[in-house]
Amino acid sequence: MRKKTNRRKFIEKSLASIAGVSAVSSCVNAPEDKVKESININFNKNYKWKMVTTWSPNMPVLGEGCNMFSEWVRKMSGGRLEIKVYGGGELIPSLESFDAVSNGAIEMGSGASYYWAGKIPSGQFFSSVPFGMNSKQMNSWIISGGGYKLYREIYEPFNLIPFVGGNTSMQMGGWFNKEINSFDDLKGLKMRIPGFGGKVLSKAGGTAVTVAGGEIYTNLERGVIDATEWIGPYHDYLMGFYQVAKYYYYPGWHEPGGVLEMIVNKDKFSELPSDLQEIIKKGIESLNIWMQCEFDSKNSEYLNKLLEEEGVQLKKFPKDVLDAFKLKTHEVIEEMVESDPKSKKIFDAYEKFRVSFKDWSTVSDKIYYEL
Ligand code: CA
Repeated sequence: MRKKTNRRKFIEKSLASIAGVSAVSSCVNAPEDKVKESININFNKNYKWKMVTTWSPNMPVLGEGCNMFSEWVRKMSGGRLEIKVYGGGELIPSLESFDAVSNGAIEMGSGASYYWAGKIPSGQFFSSVPFGMNSKQMNSWIISGGGYKLYREIYEPFNLIPFVGGNTSMQMGGWFNKEINSFDDLKGLKMRIPGFGGKVLSKAGGTAVTVAGGEIYTNLERGVIDATEWIGPYHDYLMGFYQVAKYYYYPGWHEPGGVLEMIVNKDKFSELPSDLQEIIKKGIESLNIWMQCEFDSKNSEYLNKLLEEEGVQLKKFPKDVLDAFKLKTHEVIEEMVESDPKSKKIFDAYEKFRVSFKDWSTVSDKIYYEL
């Protein structure tokens, strides 16, 4: 009898914890969802929204995912919410999307937080930091580790709600026409590498060059640049870099898990009935998962293609080069947090999570990959 009672207690407890898990997963995008909100639905009103993106029209995975999101929303809302997706430059120039969504001229946008580094420097900690957290760790921090609260806080003055809307997963180190055997080989290296990574390369003696996406191939071919990074094997293959560069380096130390971002105008979002708001949130969550799966699946397929069909020479950065990049990364971050208190606050939270997650990664993923 006693055994039976214990068993029943165990079952009740298990069911409660299962319910707990589903309650957590149903609010992964916004901690405030833990509070029961009132439901307001108006089946007679239809909405037509616009989404501007920083991606070229229909760009594989990135633009493609936004198109899929729009279709999911249309279906889930029974046609009450239609979102027309525009590629970068189709409606407005890519980098103007932040202002257009902020002032409500456009309802939502897809990009990455580091594009707005000039407006919100601290936002860069929500994209990708060299030697920082990978895609799994970033999702854990933002969605479950308190990151969302900070992320929302820094976008609040701009009347924007930011969402994690995808991840490129671990990127590659890039394509080089000069072999990198030691730290000295970085001296004078002209490489197309934007953002954080570019600052680190410049500190390490190289020259970070800005080149528009469409011109990278020709610049590499003509020797205007010695190297370029892009994304991962799938997109790099589509860009044809293997035709004009000798070596393909790893790891992608500068972008270990590039978070992609969806921004929504706060007023426009508030105007929506509660079911459509939820559809947007759940649609973005699905997009986040789909993009990572698609990147990883395609990258593994295309890495093999590059190695087996195109004979690409895969090379690992030497240890002293990675050590130097790491050291310079610390300097870049130090300068950044010294000049911006918000960046310091966010970086402190980021680091705290990263360090505590490291122990878990060591006994889970790391050891498993070494088996
Ligand atoms: Ca990149």
